[in-house]
Amino acid sequence: MAEEKKAKPKIQKEAVPIPKQPPEVRRRNFNEVALGYTEEQAVAEANRCLQCKKPQCIQGCPVEVDIPAFIRLIRERKFEEAIKKVKEKNSLPAICGRVCPQENQCQKFCVLGKIGDPVSIGRLERFVADWELKRGLEAPEKPAPTGKKVAVIGAGPAGLTAAADLAKLGHKVVIFEALHLPGGVLMYGIPEFRLPKRIVQAEVDYVKKLGVEIRTDCLIGRIHTIPELLKEEGFDAVFIGTGAGLPRFLGLPGENLGGIYSANEFLIRVNLMKSYNFPQYDTPIRIGKKVAVIGGGNVAMDSARSALRLGAEEVYIIYRRSRKEMPARAEEIENAEEEGVIFKLLTNPVRFIGNEQGLLKAMECIRMKLGEPDESGRRRPIPIEGSEFTIEVDTAIIAIGRTPNPIIQRTTEGLEVTRWGTIVADENGKTSIEGVYAGGDIVTGEATVISAMGAGKRAAKAIHEYLMNKK
Ligand code: FAD
Ligand code: SF4
Repeated sequence: MAEEKKAKPKIQKEAVPIPKQPPEVRRRNFNEVALGYTEEQAVAEANRCLQCKKPQCIQGCPVEVDIPAFIRLIRERKFEEAIKKVKEKNSLPAICGRVCPQENQCQKFCVLGKIGDPVSIGRLERFVADWELKRGLEAPEKPAPTGKKVAVIGAGPAGLTAAADLAKLGHKVVIFEALHLPGGVLMYGIPEFRLPKRIVQAEVDYVKKLGVEIRTDCLIGRIHTIPELLKEEGFDAVFIGTGAGLPRFLGLPGENLGGIYSANEFLIRVNLMKSYNFPQYDTPIRIGKKVAVIGGGNVAMDSARSALRLGAEEVYIIYRRSRKEMPARAEEIENAEEEGVIFKLLTNPVRFIGNEQGLLKAMECIRMKLGEPDESGRRRPIPIEGSEFTIEVDTAIIAIGRTPNPIIQRTTEGLEVTRWGTIVADENGKTSIEGVYAGGDIVTGEATVISAMGAGKRAAKAIHEYLMNKK
């Protein structure tokens, strides 16, 4: 009798949606927007994965997590094994699961994306990371000490990842962080409603459990220079992960009026100094009724959504290109729109207009059209002559990008730097000075959390090889 053909399981084309706070509620609170999968939802989403023999998703992950393996473990409800599998490659999964632009990385390559929604890899990563956080984080056993000491400058994702990997290899690691809290942009930039600070703190605590020492309020270049760390403080190698924390400005007339913030200052006040919790925290912030945020990236979306939550009546995103060119994560653009942020696209500010007290009262803008692609590959915005118009606003937040902090470069003789102020390093983070490595935004210019982590990982591997071969 001919063998009966096995029926192929039906592919579920739509991803299991993630529960969220409704827009009309969340637009006025700082609680997390996306609530995370339940166990049943996570297993259902994991069941969509085809467990491909040649999984394309892995090539899209800068830290090479074995994605099908951890998803299979979720299917089997082996959540503890699943998070262990993720953590073989990623020390900050609860963070990555929340803020990585998966649509441009692992999920972009998922084969299911050709016929429907790709597997929600990020949401599944977040699910297992949160599952573990609820039960308390366990650090792996400490390896035998190598006797080598590494200084890591900056406690952002690049520094934390390099430190974690070096500690796992048995090196003594000290992180020097300029601010009073570790986490970098994760702590001071990305708002609570997208990345709760208890999650960042828990992942920082995990890095500490690996044996990493974190010294906060230590600005390298001031308290010690890199040559001092190597020659006088007994460090065998240094990793620089100081990020791109200096705001860019537009250079327009009126930019110094009262009521105009750089996104950096605004978000640091809101997140790090917790001004949204004033007067419990004593950093007030003035927010007007009509707020314009200039820019189209994640920083702009975070600023606009924070302004809404602080009580602004109308919040505009002013962006000089079209929606298609916006660099922010697609999900965050959608969230901002749902919450009522108004998008004024193909629009650019020309000057800021103040009142008698020197406070912002309006902004003159010009309409734009798109020309040929420029060096960034995006179509160049061109002003349309005579299309100027004025919008009444009493607060403006400039979110047009950030540049590297220059202190290290200025105080480290022999460190090769580009004309944009980023540090020159090869793909393993090796700089022009022996024993000094660098990675993350300080090398690439502003990028993503996961790319900074990938750079930290590669540098940790290279530093380990250097230390083990050093005479
Ligand atoms: P950072 O995170 O900037 O950390 C550098 C650390 O070094 C800081 O803590 C700083 O205080 C410290 N430091 C600087 N100089 C010194 C010194 N001299 N001595 C000691 N310490 C020093 N990416 C995403 O993938 N997804 C997102 O959704 C996303 N949203 C973002 C939202 C905002 C508001 C911002 C600003 C960025 C966002 N990014 C996002 C980008 C991402 O956060 C960065 O690419 C990433 O944090 C870079 O990591 P890093 O470790 O290189 O630097
Ligand atoms: Fe699963 Fe998509 Fe990866 Fe295939 S490409 S293993 S379907 S996540």
